[in-house]
Amino acid sequence: MPRYDYECETCGKRFEARHGFDDPAPACPDGHPVVHRIITSTPRLLKGMEAATSKNATKAELRAKWAEETPKLRKKMADKLGEDAVNRNASILNTKYDTD
Ligand SMILES: [Zn+2]
Repeated sequence: MPRYDYECETCGKRFEARHGFDDPAPACPDGHPVVHRIITSTPRLLKGMEAATSKNATKAELRAKWAEETPKLRKKMADKLGEDAVNRNASILNTKYDTD
């Protein structure tokens, strides 16, 4: 079961809870009913890009990373938005990191 981080709106306490994706948010351990989920996990794709940039990657490395990730990103977009939308935005996907 996935783990989520929450912050209580009333007392600010942060806590973890395990529950299904569609289940309602749990209450604060101190009994306050209003809590907010804290988004701590970055999508895997972005993590890869961050890793590449945080190591002072050269432009060549960035380009290689981009070339590696773009097809995956493109597929994700196609799954979500449809091929038409991807084709309309193809120039953006193809040109980023393409210039020196
Ligand atoms: Zn609380």
